[in-house]
Amino acid sequence: MPSHISHSLLAEKLFESLGVKEFSPQARHAVYIGAQGPDIFYHNRRSSPSGLLAGSVIHRKGFGSVSARMLEHCLLNGFDHNSPQGVYTLAFISHGIMDRVFHPYINYFAGWVDGSAESENYRFCHPFLERILDGALACTLCPDNTDYSPGDDQPLNNYSFADKFDAGSEMPHALRETLEFALKQSYSRMSRDEQLGARIQNAYADSCGFYHYCEGPRSPRIPCQWAALLHPKKLPADIDFLNLKGTQWFDPCDQDKAHSWSVHKLFSRALEQATRICRPVRDILAGGDPPKNYPGLPAELGDHGLRSDVPGQDMDSPCTLKHRDPLPLKAVLEQIAAGTCPSHWKAADELFGI
Ligand SMILES: [Zn+2]
Repeated sequence: MPSHISHSLLAEKLFESLGVKEFSPQARHAVYIGAQGPDIFYHNRRSSPSGLLAGSVIHRKGFGSVSARMLEHCLLNGFDHNSPQGVYTLAFISHGIMDRVFHPYINYFAGWVDGSAESENYRFCHPFLERILDGALACTLCPDNTDYSPGDDQPLNNYSFADKFDAGSEMPHALRETLEFALKQSYSRMSRDEQLGARIQNAYADSCGFYHYCEGPRSPRIPCQWAALLHPKKLPADIDFLNLKGTQWFDPCDQDKAHSWSVHKLFSRALEQATRICRPVRDILAGGDPPKNYPGLPAELGDHGLRSDVPGQDMDSPCTLKHRDPLPLKAVLEQIAAGTCPSHWKAADELFGI
């Protein structure tokens, strides 16, 4: 899946393309918290009771239903398109769309660990490639961010995602309630979980801590598994991380279809899809009647898993991952972790074209 800055950039561009120029302070946080979708549960590794499991469940099955229930919650309670709940719902929807569009690319070019000796070379490469894409998209999609330059202490200094996400020690009640309602309505096990609200709060609080950690000071030498979670300051110029050369690649879940899309092309596809799906939803939240041929949220978004936009794979029948042709990411990561990057490597802003 893409990482937090990629998701937050997509949500920003989505609202831009929907013509939204201003948010209340509460709704602004809803953009960034919503854009992380169920990923906040993945970061719930300190506080208890934990929602870690919910992260996998929602990614594997039921995303369309959860989104539809969030919309239902807004409509039942009269929360409109500008409310924190309405904004949260739209940003949340964009998360699933982006996961499905980007995950095949990341899997193909980062590989996965499957027990074979060869696949050990791909350990930690998936999150590392996600961070590289974060930096590349931040460079090319934020025209205001012209002095992007991963500094010593602040890897994505001007973007400062953690501040955008951080709404204080408590997750805003309006958002927590929306998510809790949708999860309880969508999964029978969660409907019986009296601690679900606490799990959501803990997921939010741990995510906040994690995002601040990612932007904080770092030591020159750290273990690979931590280095993989930080945005790299310098990278070699001879690896085509973004597939700008249009090399053919495959969705690991889809045996037949070859693609040559670059990361920027994938971003455009995700934005186009998110805008198409979210525009009628926002209109309905604004009080309009559903348009003719309105596809309906579950039908359009689907309940299949978020690791591909190939329908038909979910928790009960996940796709068999086959195709991969990983970039030499492990060698790059090991040099970053050891603090031995060669001097000819380029700063990210230089490499990604600002
Ligand atoms: Zn995700």
